[in-house]
Amino acid sequence: MSNDVFVLVEHRDGAVTDGTFEILGRAHELAGAVGGETVALLLAADIAPLADQLGGMSILAIEDPGLADFSPSVYQAALEPIVRERAPLLLLAPNSGVGMDIAGGLSGAIGVPLAAFATSIAIDAGSPVVTCQLYAGKIEARVRFRDGRGICTVVAGSYPASAGRIAGSPRIEHISMPVADGRVRFRRLIRPEAGDVDITREGILVSVGRGIGEQDNIELIEELAAALGGAVSSSRPIADAGWLPRTRQVGKSGLRVKPRLYLALGISGAPEHLEGMRDAELIIAVNTDPRAPIFGVAHFGAVADILDVVPAMTKRLG
Ligand SMILES: Cc1cc2nc3c(=O)[nH]c(=O)nc-3n(C[C@H](O)[C@H](O)[C@H](O)COP(=O)(O)OP(=O)(O)OC[C@H]3O[C@@H](n4cnc5c(N)ncnc54)[C@H](O)[C@@H]3O)c2cc1C
Repeated sequence: MSNDVFVLVEHRDGAVTDGTFEILGRAHELAGAVGGETVALLLAADIAPLADQLGGMSILAIEDPGLADFSPSVYQAALEPIVRERAPLLLLAPNSGVGMDIAGGLSGAIGVPLAAFATSIAIDAGSPVVTCQLYAGKIEARVRFRDGRGICTVVAGSYPASAGRIAGSPRIEHISMPVADGRVRFRRLIRPEAGDVDITREGILVSVGRGIGEQDNIELIEELAAALGGAVSSSRPIADAGWLPRTRQVGKSGLRVKPRLYLALGISGAPEHLEGMRDAELIIAVNTDPRAPIFGVAHFGAVADILDVVPAMTKRLG
């Protein structure tokens, strides 16, 4: 048993994901608080380029051609003996498809409890306390592990990625492990259709909801987005109505976005919408209803009619 904090490294197309760096930053703080070390668990066909991206930290690496593509059972089987033997205080993984597959499987296999949908992890009296989202964020649960050790999958955007990027050379411990042939095989990565604009990559999103009233008014939103140098996104009813392409929809059944600025115009802030945008750095909402839930997540808000505010803003910026 140790007080180390293990982090499962998620990588795609040869790049360590932002979600991994978000977790690494928090892992360093947690490990520091309990006198342990942060250890990255890296499984890949080619370790060196990924280890370089991780920078000056400890890495447990399993390198094998069989790890080129993600397969839950293969990754889990390779990790199981390491996690069982080294028994870290915490194992953190992104709350992504990959992270949840591995964390869930490991939890069942080694009998260590899993806290999924974690949005914050703290140390209290030497053991972790985890806040988890339930029902798309409608309820928060605070979780302690029965014997103080556990596995968490951490929701994207819960911590800044910058804290996880540290300069320096990695210290790599290579572990040779027979890599089994998994029952579930990776076939191909199906990327979401980006359409004309990929809203997940935009720094500024001007997002419109049912408060816009009618399709012809969408033009006002497009003019504002152009003046701000951003792109137009929407809530689901706007995409359902065909006023904007489905690729612009933000939320549970749309895309998850994390822009620098998210302008929510005539959007009520239903939980399914908030799920896709609450991680934006700066949220500004305009809504005629002062009790609209969107004001609960907005950093700034105005109780106003968007049909007045939007043309006035565009004119001011022009
Ligand atoms: C399984 C499931 C998945 C879903 N997935 C998504 C999803 O991915 N994305 C999503 O967005 N929704 C999703 N929804 C739908 C979600 O529950 C809401 O119905 C939807 O987000 C509401 O969109 P809205 O805020 O544009 O409309 P409304 O809730 O109707 O809100 C319109 C808002 O505009 C304000 N308003 C009206 N006129 C003006 C004006 N002139 N100026 C300023 N404000 C004005 C009103 O006060 C109101 O707050 C999903 C629902 C389910 C059940």
